Amino acid sequence: MLLAPEITPNAYTTPLRRLLGPGPSDISTRVLQALAKPTIGYLDPSFVGMMEELKALLRYAFQTKNALTFPVSGPGSAGMEMCFVNMVDRGDKVIVCRNGVFGNRMVENVERCGGQAIIVDDVWGQAVDLNKVEEAFKQYPDAKVLAFVHAETSTGALSDARALCALAQRYGALTIVDAVTSLGGVPVLADEWGADAIYSGSQKCLSCTPGLSPITFSDRVVAKVQARPQKSQSWFLDLNLLLGYWGETTRTYHHTAPTNSLYALHEALLALQQEGLEQAWARHKSNHEALKAGLAVLDIRYVVEETSRLPQLNSIYIPQGLDDKLVRTAMLQEHGIEIGAGLGALAGKIWRIGLMGYSSRVENVVACLAALESVLI
Ligand code: PLP
Repeated sequence: MLLAPEITPNAYTTPLRRLLGPGPSDISTRVLQALAKPTIGYLDPSFVGMMEELKALLRYAFQTKNALTFPVSGPGSAGMEMCFVNMVDRGDKVIVCRNGVFGNRMVENVERCGGQAIIVDDVWGQAVDLNKVEEAFKQYPDAKVLAFVHAETSTGALSDARALCALAQRYGALTIVDAVTSLGGVPVLADEWGADAIYSGSQKCLSCTPGLSPITFSDRVVAKVQARPQKSQSWFLDLNLLLGYWGETTRTYHHTAPTNSLYALHEALLALQQEGLEQAWARHKSNHEALKAGLAVLDIRYVVEETSRLPQLNSIYIPQGLDDKLVRTAMLQEHGIEIGAGLGALAGKIWRIGLMGYSSRVENVVACLAALESVLI
């Protein structure tokens, strides 16, 4: 007898939700339709043409002329890891800013690469303190890399990426910037900032399916990686090997590209370009303002100071006396709305309401406020 699973033999159907958490965000019909196009070979001339457009659209999203700009076949965590395994050698000092969960993951990455993490801690919910980072550079002027999270999804805080990149340049260090939650929601200006490596995620303000990590590297990084005497400890994430597939001239097999997900990302980026980056940033801001006004009426307080608050991720204190899980469950079961719980030290204390990408729409703000009001009263 063969083993057989005990499931009802119907196709899986998903419930209809409004995704107003920390990601994934809602996906538009046009992007879902792109996903359903016939799969073709990843070396098919038609697919290769689409890849070139995809790279150009990503350069627009990142505002960069960097030749090496492409989507990593893996989630944001793969993009993060690709930066560290290629840019950190054994014994390298790396200044890592930690003001939430994802800064801590960067520390983990440095240590797993055999580097020495110089940690600059800030209170969760606050932006990275430039003075502290400058102090770290003064103490460790031989630091090779500065790594920080532009938009800390665990807290809703936005840090000053332009100033942090300028600081790293003054001390001759490369930068690794986490823009998983920022890309498409607030300005990410790779060339203007002089950033060296920026990675993002497909599932937040780009509103594509999860599982891809747009990434861009400066020519300085490419030169460093190409001159590296030892091989990267990761085969899959080795930039030198990936250059053969995503590079300028060659298209040789490295791994089987997730073709349909790439169609979807192409469509999502096309939608972003058609809307215009500045319009997309303005939309995120105005929907945030509308939500903020409604939350004030409900007497709900924000975690992050107004000056460093992310418009696409509203982290708010849970009003006293309310049960975190009960409220989130009621929002989901009764109203079909997903909002996010707090992470780490903020678990049970905050909720995270995302208005990211295609989720950042007035109708979602209205639905969320109405549901919150009915659940809280
Ligand atoms: N960095 C930040 C700031 C994130 O918000 C996330 C995911 O939420 C990640 C990295 C990891 O991305 P993924 O979950 O796609 O691996």
